Amino acid sequence: MNRKTFLKLAALAGLVGIPMKAQALTSLEQSLKNSDQMPLLFLGHGSPMNAIEENEFVHGFRKVSQSIPKPQAILVISAHWETKGTQVTAMEKPRTIHDFGGFPPALYEVQYPAPGSPDLARETKDLIKSTTIDLDHKWGLDHGAWSVVKHLYPKADVPVIQMSLDYTQGPQYHYELAKELAVLRNKGVLIIGSGNMVHNLRMVAWDKFNIDNYAYDWAQEARSKMSHYILHGDHAPLINYASQGKAFELAIPSPDHYLPLLYILGLKAEGEEISLFNDKAQAGSLTMTSVKVG
Ligand code: ZN
Repeated sequence: MNRKTFLKLAALAGLVGIPMKAQALTSLEQSLKNSDQMPLLFLGHGSPMNAIEENEFVHGFRKVSQSIPKPQAILVISAHWETKGTQVTAMEKPRTIHDFGGFPPALYEVQYPAPGSPDLARETKDLIKSTTIDLDHKWGLDHGAWSVVKHLYPKADVPVIQMSLDYTQGPQYHYELAKELAVLRNKGVLIIGSGNMVHNLRMVAWDKFNIDNYAYDWAQEARSKMSHYILHGDHAPLINYASQGKAFELAIPSPDHYLPLLYILGLKAEGEEISLFNDKAQAGSLTMTSVKVG
């Protein structure tokens, strides 16, 4: 039997077709998987007033939401929810928490009625093997979540859950924990870290809040070093931020607003695109710098 006859017979018997078809399917599945993978966002949320103001940062949030596929659900790791152990919100209807003081009444009137997702909460709990995740029924959406998600999806038609920051754990722990969430990206879940990279409230120059891009020298130093490490995939100094000298010490007086960044970096896959937006300082000791991965 020559080769041509063999192939003909084999094709009739379905012997040749099968492996070729299987191969084609595998690459198709692969491409679907890749194209379906949701990007990651770290959002510098800044002042709660950004929830109701029209400014360049709000425009930046809107613009980034238009550049990514609409998610099935959102998981937010917010600077404003610290707990002992890690929890995820599991209620059907998370309340809008006004966790701040001294702002105009209009800000307290904002409601962001996005549904929760008990199913996603359960799935997130089951996914994480390195620690026990507790399901929470009391929290809701703090302003670290709603003040920014509101601008991404103003119709509140995407379910949102939050995952807390375990305040008993160090930066490496958070960076590693993030990796266990990776599979959610293939299920249409948008993972958002919400905080501020440079965030020293005691040193805020309140009188300079409206001066464009106003940064103290140390804030500028920390900001440019952070940006460099982020864009070059050099995560070690960002994880070991506490040993990076005075500028980082002043930029990160407490870890709450910084750690959400480490979740996004921990989740980033090798070779994925990464870019910065809203990359400006505010009032001397804050930066609004935000990150998009994918
Ligand atoms: Zn905050």
